[in-house]
Amino acid sequence: MNNRTKYSLTWLLVVAVIGLATGALYALWDNHRPFSKEQRTIIRQSDSVMYVTTWPEDSTVLRTPSVDLTKAELKSKDLKTLLAKMLTTVRSPQQGGVGIAAPQVGIGKRIVCLQRFDKEGGPFECYLNIRIDSLYGSIGKGPEGCLSVPPMRGLVPRHTNVIVSYIQPETLEPKRDTVSGYTAVIFQHECDHLDGILYIDRADTVYVSPSWEAERRAYDYTRPEWWPLLP
Ligand code: ZN
Repeated sequence: MNNRTKYSLTWLLVVAVIGLATGALYALWDNHRPFSKEQRTIIRQSDSVMYVTTWPEDSTVLRTPSVDLTKAELKSKDLKTLLAKMLTTVRSPQQGGVGIAAPQVGIGKRIVCLQRFDKEGGPFECYLNIRIDSLYGSIGKGPEGCLSVPPMRGLVPRHTNVIVSYIQPETLEPKRDTVSGYTAVIFQHECDHLDGILYIDRADTVYVSPSWEAERRAYDYTRPEWWPLLP
């Protein structure tokens, strides 16, 4: 091997090492950026009314328990964009919901936005890294629907009172709330989403709207026939 070849090989090695090191550093940096690459794409490229995941087609994201937002994510611009889009989505005429959880727009993070019927004017609010601390009071059964299970309704047993802990989006301060009545039911429904649970899992009876029922007459969606269809 002459000197010229040795020189070329050395440079090739140096370039390869620099290339590998840069790649590894980029991967390390990318892992610490707020949200995954896929999540950033969903947040940035979606319309202000986001695509709503539906069961059973989007079972992977709907059935996977969500994780907390990191400190970097809590302070990120992408989170502000996501909350604005989640609010627009749940309030849009085509959805017309009273609550939405992040997995319903394809983001596996512990975020819910819902309507506070227990507050004057019924404002929509968002809650970050939310958890139910306790459920108490009597258990009542009421009809529920879900943006992710569009044609269905179900009678679901829920507690009348709930205590939740979360981080406020405006101040990023932790807070605890005691909620009762219909709004407590919405909190339970939305927090279930963050644990991969859908109301059809808890419903005593599941039924479909008359128009959809006509199309799907072959199925009886009340228990126990419903269960084998669950993923
Ligand atoms: Zn739902």
